[in-house]
Amino acid sequence: MSKRILVTGAAGFLGSNLTDRLLAEGHSVIGVDNYCTSAHENIAHLDGNPKFEFLKHDICVEFDPGPVDAIFNMASPASPPEYLRLAIETLKVGSVGVENTLKIAEKYGADYLHASTSECYGDPLEHPQSESYWGNVNPVGPRSVYDEAKRFSEAAVAAYHRYHGVNTHLVRIFNTYGPRLHPSDGRVISNFLMQALKGEPLTIYGDGTQTRSFCYVDDLIEGILLLAKSDEHLPVNIGNPGEFTILECAEEVLKMTGSKSALIFEALPQDDPTRRKPDITKARQTLGWEPKIKLHEGLERCLPYFLKKVEEGH
Ligand code: NAD
Ligand code: UDP
Repeated sequence: MSKRILVTGAAGFLGSNLTDRLLAEGHSVIGVDNYCTSAHENIAHLDGNPKFEFLKHDICVEFDPGPVDAIFNMASPASPPEYLRLAIETLKVGSVGVENTLKIAEKYGADYLHASTSECYGDPLEHPQSESYWGNVNPVGPRSVYDEAKRFSEAAVAAYHRYHGVNTHLVRIFNTYGPRLHPSDGRVISNFLMQALKGEPLTIYGDGTQTRSFCYVDDLIEGILLLAKSDEHLPVNIGNPGEFTILECAEEVLKMTGSKSALIFEALPQDDPTRRKPDITKARQTLGWEPKIKLHEGLERCLPYFLKKVEEGH
């Protein structure tokens, strides 16, 4: 059945990929974004599409998109340099913005999915991280504007389910990459690919022994859509358990691009998590989901997009 779906953060990396997928399934999408970490570019191909409406708007200001069947709340700065630049805005979108969209879900009886994050686990003392782990977050450190906003968001979403009966879903997204990542928003895969393709040194923060587990965007979107259709209201990890040190990640990028770029070592940002790897047992069991695309293949799939960004002079 074709639905009318609200996607917040629709011009961002994940929001625009999700919007394309929902339109391909025959739904109508109303996209909302204030372009604080993105631009029209990611949704320019949808200009004139009668199934896509766009509203340039800050979701921290109440709005009414009219009746909707489902909401995917993706709006929030997501890259560390961007949420440090937009610190108060990040706190607000994870609190006021989330509640505004939950009110829309309650008003129209819409299903609601919120994009949460592995950052809820902070610098985790349990490894890999399963949903039952409550995390190790510094509540007043620089990253707290993001981590604590996302933890508040989860509490707000759980409360709207518990007290107002909204059909909610919480996805804890682990590091995801793919086309439409902003080439200069500072995340590691986009930084390394852009640096490798331009022949510039790859910037390793700290000694590069910290780990991340990278999920290709198509796998993530698949998991999110399965979760949205499920009866699961508690958080579900969606990510790729393939774990790499940042040095290994740099080597993969150099190998795949054939780049001769050097590595340079820079200061490690404060509270940068030392390791991160999702336990995806719950996603496997409740959604029948697991990622299919390994890092090397995912990087290859990104290449045309990042080559274009280099050609455009980014
Ligand atoms: P992104 O920065 O590319 O997209 C976020 C979008 O939200 C941008 O278009 C931005 O302009 C918009 N936005 C921010 N504040 C807004 C506001 N107040 N009103 C309207 N629009 C607003 O980041 P992304 O990687 O696409 O992340 C999307 C969501 O997924 C975020 O909530 C993020 O926290 C979450 N997430 C992403 C990852 C990842 O690896 N990509 C990991 C964990 C969680
Ligand atoms: N990182 C790095 N060089 C870069 C960008 C990031 O070494 O140019 C490191 C960063 O310190 C972190 C990891 O790569 O340990 C992932 O960083 P990212 O900003 O992509 O996401 P995070 O998982 O920290 O939110």
